[in-house]
Amino acid sequence: MTTLNPAGWRPEMTPERRAKAATHSGNKALMLEEPLIFEIGSTETTGVDLAEPPAGKPRLGNLERTATIGLPGLAEPETVRHYTRLSRQNYAIDLGVFPLGSCTMKHNPRLNEKMARLPGFADVHPLQPVDTVQGALAVIQELAVWLIELTGMYGVAMSPKAGAHGELCGILCIKAALEARGEGHRKVILVPESAHGTNPATAAFAGYSVEDIPATADGRVDLAALKARLGPDVAAVMITNPNTCGLFERDMRAISDAVHAVGGYVYCDGANFNAIVGRVRPGDLGIDAMHINLHKTFSTPHGGGGPGSGPVVLSEALSPYGPLPFVAKQADGHFQLVEEETVGEDHPHSFGRMVAFHGQMGMFTRALTYILSHGADGLRQVAEDAVLNANYVLRSLDKTMTAPFGEAGPCMHEALFSDANLAEGFTTIDVAKGLIDEGYHPMTVYFPLVVHGAMLVEPTETESKAGLDAFIDALRSVVERAKAGDHSLKSAPHYAPRSRLDETLAARKPVLVWKEPEAAQAAE
Ligand SMILES: *Cc1c(COP(=O)(O)O)cnc(C)c1O
Repeated sequence: MTTLNPAGWRPEMTPERRAKAATHSGNKALMLEEPLIFEIGSTETTGVDLAEPPAGKPRLGNLERTATIGLPGLAEPETVRHYTRLSRQNYAIDLGVFPLGSCTMKHNPRLNEKMARLPGFADVHPLQPVDTVQGALAVIQELAVWLIELTGMYGVAMSPKAGAHGELCGILCIKAALEARGEGHRKVILVPESAHGTNPATAAFAGYSVEDIPATADGRVDLAALKARLGPDVAAVMITNPNTCGLFERDMRAISDAVHAVGGYVYCDGANFNAIVGRVRPGDLGIDAMHINLHKTFSTPHGGGGPGSGPVVLSEALSPYGPLPFVAKQADGHFQLVEEETVGEDHPHSFGRMVAFHGQMGMFTRALTYILSHGADGLRQVAEDAVLNANYVLRSLDKTMTAPFGEAGPCMHEALFSDANLAEGFTTIDVAKGLIDEGYHPMTVYFPLVVHGAMLVEPTETESKAGLDAFIDALRSVVERAKAGDHSLKSAPHYAPRSRLDETLAARKPVLVWKEPEAAQAAE
C-alpha cells in the first residue's frame, strides 16, 4: 500500500511558508492555511469502518483493479473541515459585491432556490414518461413564453447549456437557414473589435472565417466600415448590445437592415440583456438570434462553470431551424416533448440535437421564479436600477480614474475605465490585486481589448447605495496608491492566503494532477 503522507495529517510548514505567513501555523487569524487533500490524508487511514466484503466471483472479465487507487483516507470531520476551509478562501456573491463587468453577477434570490428544490422539479428524471412530468414541461413552456415576450422574438430554443453554447446554437441555425437557401457558400462572419472572445470562437468552431469590424472613437460599431464590408460572402454579423464598453449600439436597426439587405443574418450576444430587459425588445431591432444567459440576467447561480443555461430566441426566419428536443403544447393542453425520432413530421428543418436531454430544469425553475416574482414592471426596474448603479460608479470615480467614453454621456450597465493615469510602472493588475486586500473580488480587467488596461465594473441592481459607496471608496483608495507610485501595491495582495502567482506559468503549464513528492521529483 502506498503511503501518501506518513508524517501525519498535516504537512510540515516549510520555512518559506512560515515566513510568508508570519505565524507558526501559517494561519492568519480566521484565514486558514489549507494544504491539498492529498497532503492531509493518507491511504493508510480511512473514514469508514466496514467489514471486508466477502470474496465473490469476479464478474469484470479480468479487468478488475489490482492496485489501490491512492485516494487519501480522511474521517468525516476532517473531510468537512477541509472543504469548509477551502470554501472560506473563495469569494462569492453571497459575501460581497462581485463587480465583474460583462458577467452580471447579481444576487441569487432564495425564493428561486426554494422553488427549485420542490421535489416535483428537483427529482424529475429526463427519461421519465412525458405524462408524469407535465408540470415540469409547463414550467419550460411558461419560461419560453416570457423570454419570447420580453425579447419580441418568434421562437426560443431552450436546450443550450450556457451563453457560448447558445451562440453555437444560433450560428448553427443561421448555417442551416443559409444552406436551405442554397447559400452555404457564405463563409464570413463579421465581429466587432470589442466582442467577447466567445463570439469569434463560436464562428470559427462552426466553420466560418472571422473578420473584425472596427469601432468608432465613441466605442460603438463603425456603421460605415461595416456597410463597406458587407457582401454576398457574409453569412452573419455577431453584435453585443449593449456592447462590452457598456454602451448601447444606437445604430442597431440600421446595422440589421444593412445586413439583411445583402442576405445575411444578425446574431446578437445577449449577455448584457440585464441593462435593457423590459425597455428594449431585440426583435424590434431586427435581430435574428440572441442567447440569454439565465445565470446573468435572470439571477440563476453561475456555479463555477456548472449549471449554466443559455436559451436562444429566434426570429421567424430562423425558428424552423432550431434544435431538438423542444416542448410543444398540443390542442388539448397536453405538453409534448418533440424528440429526434419525430423529426420527419414535426420539425423537418431542425439542424439537429445539441444536448442529450432537454435542458437545465433547476435553472428554468429559478429563472421563472425570478421573472414571476418581479413581474413585467419589476423586470423593467431591474434594468433601470442596474443602469443607475453603473452610472453612479462611473461618476463617483471619473475624477480619480480615466473613463475613456465618460465624455460621451451616461453608460449602460457597466462603467469602463482605463489605466491611463496610473503612475509609471503601475498597471491594471496592480489595482486588481490591491482590491483583493480590500476584501473585494476585482472587476473584469484587460477586457474589452479596445481600451488599454481596461477595468470594467458592473455593479448590478442588487447593490445598495451604502454597499456601492464602500466599494467605490476602496477602489478609489487603491487607484490613488497606484497614481502615487506606492510600491507595496506591486506585491499585493498581502492578506490573501496566496500572494501574486505566476499567472502565465499557471495558464501555460498547469499542474493538474498531484504526485507524491518523490515521484514528482523523479519526473523532473
Ligand atoms: C458571459 C458572456 C458570454 C458567454 O456566456 P457563458 O454563459 O459564460 O458561456 C458571451 N458574451 C458575453 C458578452 C458575455 O458576457
